[in-house]
Amino acid sequence: MKKLILLYKVVQPDVLALLKEHFEVAEFDGLAAATRPDFLAALARAQGLIGMYGRIDAGFIAAAPRLQAVSTVSVGYDAIDLAALNARGILLCNTPDVLTETTADTAFLLLLGVARRVAELAQWLKDGHWQRPVGAAQYGVDVHGKTLGIVGMGRIGGAVARRAALGFGMRVLYTARSPKPQLEQELGAQWRELDALLGESDFVCVLAPLTAQTRHLIGAEQLARMKPEAFLINAARGAVVDERALIDALQRRRIAGAGLDVFEQEPLPPQSPLLAMPNVLALPHVGSATRETRHAMELCAAHNLIDALAGRRPRYLVNPQVLEAAATASPTRSETPSPR
Ligand code: NAP
Repeated sequence: MKKLILLYKVVQPDVLALLKEHFEVAEFDGLAAATRPDFLAALARAQGLIGMYGRIDAGFIAAAPRLQAVSTVSVGYDAIDLAALNARGILLCNTPDVLTETTADTAFLLLLGVARRVAELAQWLKDGHWQRPVGAAQYGVDVHGKTLGIVGMGRIGGAVARRAALGFGMRVLYTARSPKPQLEQELGAQWRELDALLGESDFVCVLAPLTAQTRHLIGAEQLARMKPEAFLINAARGAVVDERALIDALQRRRIAGAGLDVFEQEPLPPQSPLLAMPNVLALPHVGSATRETRHAMELCAAHNLIDALAGRRPRYLVNPQVLEAAATASPTRSETPSPR
């Protein structure tokens, strides 16, 4: 008999067909349905869970007593209670790599967009203000040759650094938990303590995951260290930046502007002061949202779940210790990695 999985995201037809080939699939369009009786009944029976967006907390996990694996269609898993999964021996899989370049493109478009005031000037034109050639009031600032500080030099941070150094001749500074000698050699990137990076950068790009250590990593004190003519880009998770402090810094003109793909509360409430600021370029969390990349993410997450529920090691496993503990307890369980 096929295992039951709960799918809480609309996926592309071939991905759905793949999942149905392997599983009985209870389909829902997001976690907004999570209080419905049919959702709760499926959750109570589900051995697998796959989807994106929304909080999977300890209460949610407790309502799924048969759950063996969760496969998120994202690289970030800050919305999922990992400790609760680990305590129950439930595998968690994610989708790194396939979204790296697309998300780096998004971060870079935010950077270019705020520097050259793209959204503001496009709106100015649509509003009929282009009566004569533009003047100093419409000028942006250069990107090429400037200094970019990357907070979180991982897969996406490295891809942004390549765009900056190789495409735009920028000087790249970075901070991470560990040094990146290869990127230093390849791009001339230089490691800095966070405070020094903030003080030297013309653009600060946040690409660190949201964890207990990074929550509000960029707060009032850090924003005060930035140059008044510098811009903040956040394409990671909203809460890595203290949004109230950011709003305050922007209102006081402590920094020049911000490019934001992510927010502390999503969807961003329409009354957010950020939406009224001409020097803020805000996007609705679309870092990886291209047709090709979302398809690749869905496929990756589907294969992760297929492997996890078949007793094979999924390619992208967040909590391998769960698998190791299971292997010790039951030596028959396969530890072979997925062939893909
Ligand atoms: P990654 O490869 O794990 O890179 C994360 C980087 O952050 C690493 O360099 C890590 O340092 C660094 N880091 C971790 N904790 C830190 C701390 N306390 N202080 C400074 N740096 C720290 O992850 P990724 O694939 O690049 O993705 C990064 C994040 O982007 C994801 O977690 C996700 O939240 C976000 N994201 C957003 C979107 C979007 O739609 N906007 C799309 C994809 C991803 P080490 O290398 O030393 O470990």
